[in-house]
Amino acid sequence: MHTCTKHMNARAAWRCSKCDSTLCPACAVTANIQRTEIIRCLSCGGVAQQIMTQKVIVPYWGMFGVFLQAIFSLTGLLQILALAAMVFLSSLIPIVGWVISLGIYAGYYFLVITRYSFGEEKLPIPADFSDVFDDIFAPFFRFIIGTLLVWVPALLYINAHVGFGLMFSSPAAAFSDPILILIILVSIAYFPGVMITAAVTQSTLAMLNPMIILGIILRIPGHYFLTVIVWGMMTVANAFLRNLVGPILYEHHVFLLTGILNEAVGLLIPMLTAMVLGRLVYQNGETLGYHTPKDLTVPEFPGATPQATAPQGGWEQPKAIQAPIEPIELEEDSSSAVLRPAPGGGFVAAGGPPAATKPKAQPQPAPAAPTAASPTNLLENALQTSDNQAALQAFKKLTESGQVPDLEPQLELRLANLLERSGQSLAAAHACRRAAEKDMQGPMASRAIFTSARLLVEKLGQKQQGAAMYKYLVENFPGDPLSERAREMLRRLKGSGV
Ligand SMILES: [Zn+2]
Ligand SMILES: [Zn+2]
Repeated sequence: MHTCTKHMNARAAWRCSKCDSTLCPACAVTANIQRTEIIRCLSCGGVAQQIMTQKVIVPYWGMFGVFLQAIFSLTGLLQILALAAMVFLSSLIPIVGWVISLGIYAGYYFLVITRYSFGEEKLPIPADFSDVFDDIFAPFFRFIIGTLLVWVPALLYINAHVGFGLMFSSPAAAFSDPILILIILVSIAYFPGVMITAAVTQSTLAMLNPMIILGIILRIPGHYFLTVIVWGMMTVANAFLRNLVGPILYEHHVFLLTGILNEAVGLLIPMLTAMVLGRLVYQNGETLGYHTPKDLTVPEFPGATPQATAPQGGWEQPKAIQAPIEPIELEEDSSSAVLRPAPGGGFVAAGGPPAATKPKAQPQPAPAAPTAASPTNLLENALQTSDNQAALQAFKKLTESGQVPDLEPQLELRLANLLERSGQSLAAAHACRRAAEKDMQGPMASRAIFTSARLLVEKLGQKQQGAAMYKYLVENFPGDPLSERAREMLRRLKGSGV
């Protein structure tokens, strides 16, 4: 038995084909793909397969309780009564009645063997006899031939070596002939094999081919001879039962009913023998070559149904990160501030001195308070009046003097927009970051983070960092409309292998 990879005490029913986890119902999701129901792994979304196990086949000697239940259940008894009625009533037809009657009986007998050879455990519904040849005459011929195969050799021997005269005048002497006894024993031993072949191959030719019958016997000699003995005993028991019950029934004769009941009693043990013969094939199915190994496997945890529901947004979205995610560096070599989302929400500026390859871009630790004519003020005014040209110029002056703009979040975003349109993506990303930092819980934050992530991914080629920003947005602003777009962006990034 397999247990769940995640829940050590839970029984697993599936195995994920992607992450190889074994899954209990709580770890599996039912999904529909093109109207086909599949099972998916909750943690990775991979398609999961049922865990199969070798079928444990109880041999027929352990199945008599089940067999008797099949016969003596309400449906079983109704089936037998219906069959008995057909057998009895058709026997009343003049001249051909016995052929039809025996054909119906044989047809059902073979049907039971066939079904039980596939592991069936209930009495099958009788054929509707719509095809007179297939349902009545073919089984009739097969049954007659099978029976003849038992008696003809003995009769031929008696005719040639013993004489029918002696048979009738002194049966004891006739049956003391060891060769005759041997012939009869061999024929009887042969009979179950013939019946199995008749039922399983549905071919009269196969029945007449001794190699096929011998093939069955020699592959399973132990089981086969045990079955011959069981079958012989049941045949004797059947004769005994019929002789016991028949006279009692006919003592209280009721029109038609007695005949039907008598037939029904006569069907009980033959149906049991048919079950035994069919089960003999089933329990040796692999040895006899009737079943492929696949027929002989069953789900290890049958009837298990997935209980989990798919995560919101699908599986393309990586699971929420418990620990703080990797620091997001907006600029590899010139930023002093390393952005790191803090557990309580918001970014924390972290990290020591950056590799200073562009010392010019380093922000001043304490920028001088802006005067009226300072670049910061000019920038602020230009942004407020939507003077894009002036804003860009002011921004240029500001950065050239080594300063960092210090604006309202909304203006930072406006600046970012402007910078992006003028091709300064990196500076735009910075502006976004600043906006987000200043307005962590405010209405500007999600937009700032989203824009920053998009710039990183699309303009600066820093896909990992952009993805981290998107993830941060998804996790910290789940209700925000931009969160949904961030998810979509992550899905696309995933699709492109990030
Ligand atoms: Zn998986
Ligand atoms: Zn589980």
